[in-house]
Amino acid sequence: MLKIVSLFISFCFMVSLESHAWDLGEVGTFQFEKVNQNVYVMHGPLSEPSVANHGFMNNPGLIISDKGLIVIDPGSAYSVGKEVLKEIKKISDKPILAVFNTHIHGDHWLANQAIKEIYPDVKMYGHPDMITQANGDEGLIWVDMMERLTEGKTKGTKVVAPELSVNQGDAIEVDGQHFRIHSMIPTHTNTDIMIEHVESKTLFLGDNSFYLRMGRFDGSASMLGNIKALEYATDLNMTAYVPGHGQTGKSDTAVKPFLDYMIRVKEVVQVGFDDELQDFEIKEKVIGQFDDYKNWEGFSVNFGKHINTMYLEIEKTAW
Ligand SMILES: [Zn+2]
Ligand SMILES: [Zn+2]
Repeated sequence: MLKIVSLFISFCFMVSLESHAWDLGEVGTFQFEKVNQNVYVMHGPLSEPSVANHGFMNNPGLIISDKGLIVIDPGSAYSVGKEVLKEIKKISDKPILAVFNTHIHGDHWLANQAIKEIYPDVKMYGHPDMITQANGDEGLIWVDMMERLTEGKTKGTKVVAPELSVNQGDAIEVDGQHFRIHSMIPTHTNTDIMIEHVESKTLFLGDNSFYLRMGRFDGSASMLGNIKALEYATDLNMTAYVPGHGQTGKSDTAVKPFLDYMIRVKEVVQVGFDDELQDFEIKEKVIGQFDDYKNWEGFSVNFGKHINTMYLEIEKTAW
């Protein structure tokens, strides 16, 4: 009898742990998953920031060291950061020692504020241009955009930019864990860093890669640069790759599909450009060749823009 009672109690405990993931209703439940030795990722929704997802959409990463924790891209708002911190606590109650931000897009770093509030001595790292932009107009634009798209759910969010600059080739040690910085900008933006966790052979790609979701290339981006960065990332031969959005995996899922997509866009745009077609004509002509990507979130909104971005880049290199 006692055994049955204790079994029942442990079952209830398991259920209660399970049900304590961050519950965003129809959007889903979110919690950290182990993706490698001492490495966890909380895979965010693939949708754009909205009332329903509270602005949460990225993949916060967590690395456990002996005495503390290292966080990569804690999320999109003060309120989101507080939820991410609750989920981190379920994995470990060690203090957060360091944070890395992959790039300027606010969905990745506006939650810094929630971490800094609890851990004022935390070391925050980012590309020097990310730091400058975050402390300038760009930071405020992202705060406003998140508040507008979530109809006020992210209210109270303030810019807390990293204060420590890291760049291509830098090596950082945090409590015995080693990180290498890979930056080949311009790629997804002109502020991207990819963060290699040496001990586990995990690469945090930031938005240089996506899986099952398309993203925007803003005015600072280079699709040709992004292709080179993903070829370089593949050659690093990591055991786990964490895209900015979409599931973590080996390079064949977390890198190759998006890399192949960009290469195919490059090829069709080059042919169209040589045939003196306009970008919209190229789009109409080739869209049927991209059926394997048409179910990726955001494909229909972004495909024409991607053709246009690539067209402008190829045009520039032709002169
Ligand atoms: Zn981005
Ligand atoms: Zn993003």
